[in-house]
Amino acid sequence: MATDGVIVIGGGPAGMMAAGTAGRRGRPVLLVEKNKRLGRKLLITGKGRCNLTNMTDLEGLIANIPGNGKFLYSAFHRFSNQDVIAFFQEWGLPTKVERGGRVFPASDRASDVLAALEKFLTHSRVQIKTGAVAAVLVEEGRVCGVKLDHGETLVADSVIIATGGCSYPLTGSTGDGYRLAAALGHTITPLKPALVPLEAATPWVREVQGLSLKNVAIKVLSKEGKTIYTDFGEMLFTHFGVSGPIVLSASTHLESATHYRLVIDLKPALTPEQLDLRLQRDFAKYARKHFRNALGDLLPRALVPVIVALVGIPPDKPVNQITRAERERLGVLLKGLEVEITGLRPLTEAIVTAGGVTVKEINPATMESKLVKGLYFAGEVIDVNAYTGGFNLQIAFSTGYLAGSSC
Ligand SMILES: Cc1cc2nc3c(=O)[nH]c(=O)nc-3n(C[C@H](O)[C@H](O)[C@H](O)COP(=O)(O)OP(=O)(O)OC[C@H]3O[C@@H](n4cnc5c(N)ncnc54)[C@H](O)[C@@H]3O)c2cc1C
Repeated sequence: MATDGVIVIGGGPAGMMAAGTAGRRGRPVLLVEKNKRLGRKLLITGKGRCNLTNMTDLEGLIANIPGNGKFLYSAFHRFSNQDVIAFFQEWGLPTKVERGGRVFPASDRASDVLAALEKFLTHSRVQIKTGAVAAVLVEEGRVCGVKLDHGETLVADSVIIATGGCSYPLTGSTGDGYRLAAALGHTITPLKPALVPLEAATPWVREVQGLSLKNVAIKVLSKEGKTIYTDFGEMLFTHFGVSGPIVLSASTHLESATHYRLVIDLKPALTPEQLDLRLQRDFAKYARKHFRNALGDLLPRALVPVIVALVGIPPDKPVNQITRAERERLGVLLKGLEVEITGLRPLTEAIVTAGGVTVKEINPATMESKLVKGLYFAGEVIDVNAYTGGFNLQIAFSTGYLAGSSC
């Protein structure tokens, strides 16, 4: 390795983009990845389909990044979502757009995204080495190489830390980058799970595990009753609590081990009055049935016994004997089904890690450290995090491109 070369630490999407971009500029590049294979986390993204970016505009990208989105203006300017799509097209991977502007490979295979990035690396003459970096070496305020965990030293005049966060550690993302950066004087803002399922204490939740609700509205309230988050879309019940896209997004705004009230509006398209008319119509249709058999048109089957038990109307009560007060109680419940949240699932189960190397110490126009010359950051190791929808990978690609172009 030449002393004027670049070492990229971490072969995830950010590291691969950074390495290939620097290599394409003619710089000698060594990509050091501790796993035998590159992109292990990339392979499980989007349930194996890889939602690689989103079709929204620049403001839309920033709006979907609750964790320091504004820091990314330059990176998105230099390498936008359209550039990501064009990049993959160039490397033989056509894409398609789905609901919510989510962009996937046309083949629906994350492995094809990895294959395209690997082709890019080969073409850019990037050398790849298997090994874990234990320290970044600095002389007189300037990067001069890295040390591997078994003691080997590699020289370089630029080092890009692209080690990811510390969720799903089995993929290799074990938070090493935070330690490497902290050892060089960088501030690490506290790490916290983001896009993580929520634990619930409400007993009926376990009874409906596996049930997914589409087109519901949710509201998360603090113990004091303050609204912290609202959203509309899809959620899921699990054996420990709740998950699914809108719950994951909500988690970004919640604290670990803190209690909240999740209020689910099962019929957000209907006003209370419209819902009452709908109930009257259903009750007329099922007038001769028992109450427990009258909700099948309105609710998923698994939820019917839960609602029947919670509303306090006897399950065997003939529908034509249900009082107006009981029907109104049912309407209120359908628009405000409550789940007691007891906290977040652990960081290891989060889709992304919030917190990381503080953006205050990174130049947003280059991704270079403001503390150490020749040191760059890319991807999730930086204190940025986005909602679901392809935004986290867009961050990895844009910051990787910028670091690879600037080093
Ligand atoms: C289940 C799941 C699904 C997801 N789905 C999506 C999705 O569809 N769309 C989306 O936008 N985002 C998704 N994400 C988030 C996205 O995968 C990450 O934000 C993204 O992978 C971050 O890229 P990165 O290159 O910064 O880090 P990573 O992908 O974490 O890669 C870091 C690499 O660095 C290596 N490394 C770490 N330490 C060292 C060291 N000391 N020496 C050498 N190598 C090291 C690791 O082994 C790893 O390969 C998903 C995440 C998960 C967990």
